[in-house]
Amino acid sequence: ATPTAVMVATGKGATQGVLIKGGNALEKAHKVNTIVFDKTGTLTVGKPEVVSDVLFSEISMEEFCNLAIAVEANSEHPIAKAIVEHAKNKLLDHKSQIANNSVVKDFEEHPGAGVGCKVGDKTVFVGNKKLMRLSNVSVDPEIENYFSDNEKLARTCVLVAVDGKVAGAFAVTDPVKPEAVHVISFLRSMNVNSIMVTGDNWSTATAIAKEVGIENVYAEIDPLGKADRVKDLQARGKIVAMVGDGINDSPALVAANVGMAIGAGTDVAIEAADIVLIKSNLEDVITAVDLSRKTIARIH
Ligand code: ADP
Ligand code: MG
Repeated sequence: ATPTAVMVATGKGATQGVLIKGGNALEKAHKVNTIVFDKTGTLTVGKPEVVSDVLFSEISMEEFCNLAIAVEANSEHPIAKAIVEHAKNKLLDHKSQIANNSVVKDFEEHPGAGVGCKVGDKTVFVGNKKLMRLSNVSVDPEIENYFSDNEKLARTCVLVAVDGKVAGAFAVTDPVKPEAVHVISFLRSMNVNSIMVTGDNWSTATAIAKEVGIENVYAEIDPLGKADRVKDLQARGKIVAMVGDGINDSPALVAANVGMAIGAGTDVAIEAADIVLIKSNLEDVITAVDLSRKTIARIH
């Protein structure tokens, strides 16, 4: 495209909340035929909420909530924030004490799995089944059932293990963005195929994909794995855009032909991207591709 055409299109994008970093990105976006979407915070709102809790051991609800708060207060993960808020409200509802947790030691974060630390003399882990495996905590059939029931409803289960035994769990939901279904189907009408990639588990991922109308899913993928999926698609001749919001998406945003970051996402993702969707609205994925196609068509 001529410098003038690029300038006009970039300006037009900017007024619509699509920040295009240079002519190269614009040039590449018109050829995109495959878009890889991250799940959490990209297809979903990214503000998870706890919808239920359950105890699996003799522990009191008061102690359970206090231990969960003690651990998750140290984590920046959106799920951690949801659990802290829920547990605090639960304690308030029961007129129970919120403990003062100055006694937390050895806090550890396990990316894609959860967190753990010592609370007083107790060892507590909060996270998914992978975390339980890592910390040698067994997951009984009763708990497996809780998982499958919730995951079918697109909910993520978070287990709380105390001294090597699962004490209870929270079910967390993160609703899909209202525009997601329309965007995926409209992209299909533009001959663009959508794929989902996520660090979350297979059943939750599949349920969310079904909700938004995506047929192709990769779940339980770590950050470098996300980039590998993008490279695989490119090796099969696809021109790939990646849409993501997290630090864990940045390798894939870089690997893609066009990286698109959600404006509300982390700075690392925004840095790594070629295009920033300022309004965090998925409709702007269409705006970006459309703008690029029109600009390029006008020139050739
Ligand atoms: P995504 O790719 O969907 O953004 P992450 O890689 O951040 O997901 O996390 C994957 C999974 O690891 C979460 O769905 C959750 O089960 C678990 N997890 C990670 N951090 C925490 C935490 N602080 N508390 C509880 N669970 C966690
Ligand atoms: Mg994300």
